[in-house]
Amino acid sequence: MRLLVAGGGLGGLVAAARALELGAAVTLLEKGDHPGGSFVYSSGYVWSYRDLPTFRREAPGGDPALQALVLERLQDAIGWLEARGGVLLSRETGNPLTFGARFDPEPTAAALTDRVESGGGQLLLRHALRRLLRDGRVRGALVEWEGGRGEEAADAVVLATGGFAANPELVQRYVLHGPGRLLLRAHPWSTGDGFLAALAAGARPSTGLDEFYGRNLPAPPARFGPKLFVEVSQLYGRYAVAVNLEGVRYADEAADWSETALVRATAHQPRQRAWYLLDAAALRRRVRERSVGEMVETARRVGGTVLRAGSLEELAGLLGERGLPEERLLRTLHGYNAAAAAGRAAELRPPRSGEAPVLKEPPFTAVEVAPSITHTIGGLAVDEGGRVLEDGGRPVRGLYAAGVEVGGIATGGYASGLAAALVLGLVSAETAVAEGPA
Ligand SMILES: Cc1cc2nc3c(=O)[nH]c(=O)nc-3n(C[C@H](O)[C@H](O)[C@H](O)COP(=O)(O)OP(=O)(O)OC[C@H]3O[C@@H](n4cnc5c(N)ncnc54)[C@H](O)[C@@H]3O)c2cc1C
Repeated sequence: MRLLVAGGGLGGLVAAARALELGAAVTLLEKGDHPGGSFVYSSGYVWSYRDLPTFRREAPGGDPALQALVLERLQDAIGWLEARGGVLLSRETGNPLTFGARFDPEPTAAALTDRVESGGGQLLLRHALRRLLRDGRVRGALVEWEGGRGEEAADAVVLATGGFAANPELVQRYVLHGPGRLLLRAHPWSTGDGFLAALAAGARPSTGLDEFYGRNLPAPPARFGPKLFVEVSQLYGRYAVAVNLEGVRYADEAADWSETALVRATAHQPRQRAWYLLDAAALRRRVRERSVGEMVETARRVGGTVLRAGSLEELAGLLGERGLPEERLLRTLHGYNAAAAAGRAAELRPPRSGEAPVLKEPPFTAVEVAPSITHTIGGLAVDEGGRVLEDGGRPVRGLYAAGVEVGGIATGGYASGLAAALVLGLVSAETAVAEGPA
């Protein structure tokens, strides 16, 4: 059994290592210059919601069978990874809605890479899958490398190329439904190669193609490299009032714990820009390990635009100098404050859930943010065996998928991309090897 795995992120590394354990001959293609994909930039939390009703509530449009698969297989999968040299930092996720573990990404990716190579797998860096080869079933892929291209024959292919976050044209077509650009909070190589190759081979897209997971980041001229992706994330919309360039609130800032809905709404605002407005009390609040003040300070340190003022009127004046309509902005802030003080923030349009703090303690702060995409939520329609499905629901024979490539797990919300990579990496390899070349 010869298995070709495309993509050397967590999903592809796990699929390759598992297939080798099961006796397959494995070639792992990695388009970039190092394995690990986005895992090596991540916080390393591999998690699932605690039970299926919670998963359904948090990602109501997702495929229940895939959600159940992640939930049921995750604990064993974490044990599998730990036993293969994954470096466990914690058995806690710090979120009462979820369970899982935190792995140290770089040594864990290195341990998996080592297992693939020492287990007899062939790792080809700077090699990209371009097209699938077929003769009634998938028989390998057309592969490109600098200065060359060639056919790589195989009995089956696992696609783990990470979706299309790094392809601005596909992001405009599927996510933004028009012009605009999201910052990229991921490695630059997931440009939709696997997704497009599978569609050309008859695969069906999943639900949620217009959804993505990302964070609001300090807007340009802020500059930072991938090692700072976690640190620069501005994850405190729940303590802020978020306004767009027209000076109005555009979303419920506290709609969900991961602030995914707020980031997605920001992507649809004029010029993909917003301002988070805070008072001094908000800066003392904490989200996970950091205070809001520390996150704002990081935005300032990397060159983001952070304004300070002694009153809301002065803050509106500073934002007016940057083109926001001053009067309308003040009406927004006074209207918000009045509703929050009266305990009626849920009646605002858009409503404000959560505690809805009043902005009253000077000094006041404004941080300019821009939405980023870490990965797509939609992708390929896949069954619980990791098989890629055609329009009629039958599998595309010989084609499997893992990780972000598997669409529709978290539609309508957000779920762990690392869990999808780990669980579907294992499952796709197990199914592919069990079904063999027939
Ligand atoms: C800053 C940050 C923090 C995060 N924190 C968390 C967290 O705490 N918990 C969590 O669950 N998730 C987190 N994530 C998301 C998580 O990292 C991803 O969901 C996960 O790593 C995706 O794994 P993957 O293997 O599916 O895809 P990727 O990691 O994107 O890997 C895909 C690989 O395929 C390669 N590739 C692309 N095209 C081709 C081609 N044509 N041929 C061959 N190779 C190709 C790419 O180079 C890449 O190496 C975070 C991400 C970031 C960036």
